[in-house]
Amino acid sequence: MKTLTLGILGGGQLGRMSALAAANLGIAVHIFTPEHNSPASQVSSQTTVAPYNDETALKKFAQSVDIITYEFENIPVDTIRFLKTLTPVYPDEKLLEVSQDRVIEKIFLNEINIETTRWKNYQSDQSILDAFQEWKSSATIIKTTRFGYDGKGQVKVNKHDNINETVRLLNGDKIIEDIVDFTCEISMICARDHEGNIITYGPMLNEHKNHILHLTTVPAGISQKHVHQADKMIRKIAQKIDLKGVLTLELFLTKDGRLLANEIAPRTHNSGHWSMNACLYSQFDNHIRAVCGFPVMDPQRHSDAKMLNLIGEDILDIDRHMKKSGAYLHIYGKSEIREGRKMGHINFISPKTSPTAS
Ligand code: AMP
Repeated sequence: MKTLTLGILGGGQLGRMSALAAANLGIAVHIFTPEHNSPASQVSSQTTVAPYNDETALKKFAQSVDIITYEFENIPVDTIRFLKTLTPVYPDEKLLEVSQDRVIEKIFLNEINIETTRWKNYQSDQSILDAFQEWKSSATIIKTTRFGYDGKGQVKVNKHDNINETVRLLNGDKIIEDIVDFTCEISMICARDHEGNIITYGPMLNEHKNHILHLTTVPAGISQKHVHQADKMIRKIAQKIDLKGVLTLELFLTKDGRLLANEIAPRTHNSGHWSMNACLYSQFDNHIRAVCGFPVMDPQRHSDAKMLNLIGEDILDIDRHMKKSGAYLHIYGKSEIREGRKMGHINFISPKTSPTAS
């Protein structure tokens, strides 16, 4: 029997956990990353270390695998277009194009009638003054349209600030967003297979510290109406984009009861790590299934869960969790501890409280 080989662009923890899930199905993994000794390459049979624009290395990589996927969104779209001429890539570049640029993302969401916060293209500082006036607000958030993550690439601007000085902190194209008065932040994850079957995880309740995900709770404890609405929203996105793979939708639940889409990630997500221990099929199992052409499976969540991220030096304080029943540690194999760096996570698993909560 020929072993299927999956190529993964990116060598981070999402690639690592996807590679582990692939191994369970007997699928070999080849990682392509600019980084030496990456978390994903430690658990994969092959690694190519090269930049994402090295066409010679990309060609050799594509010829050595049957299918290609990616584990983070900042892979250049041209890299995917080039690889696609040689080997199938899932999800394809349409999802990357949408999720790499906040303006394209907002236009896409609004066109398919998914509500977002009010937004405007930043053309000059006058656009911000216009936003204050139009939205009758005294503060806005300015974000870079590309490459922002974990709160990086965004600033809050108050009406009486020195706008010019604040906006200069951000390089490149920008978007102006109205500030959402939210009660909580939630997310949904879905996987869609080649036949168009969709399964979903969530909603998950997400709490952040210093703009980095700190704790995810499942079930999220929101109303069934919002659960169904969030589920419908992510299914619509997956269908409209003809997804083959996994995507994540981050949402705000506003104080007046609306669900607003914040952003789409074209991949598995930190807020889905609990599924590794609280479901029969984790987000990584379904990621591998969806991209490799196998059917996606209902996650069958059997437990409640809290996922605690281990950020930076948190990793030095894990001994006490080692002897805690129901605590399952996942450590990513990163040798260097840095402030804000995701080093691992712990899933705290408990019996399912509500049989109906998703
Ligand atoms: P993002 O990079 O868009 O995910 O934003 C990072 C975090 O900033 C979010 O998780 C929110 O806590 C906060 N945030 C982003 N956009 C807004 C907004 N328009 N209104 C209020 N809070 C926001």
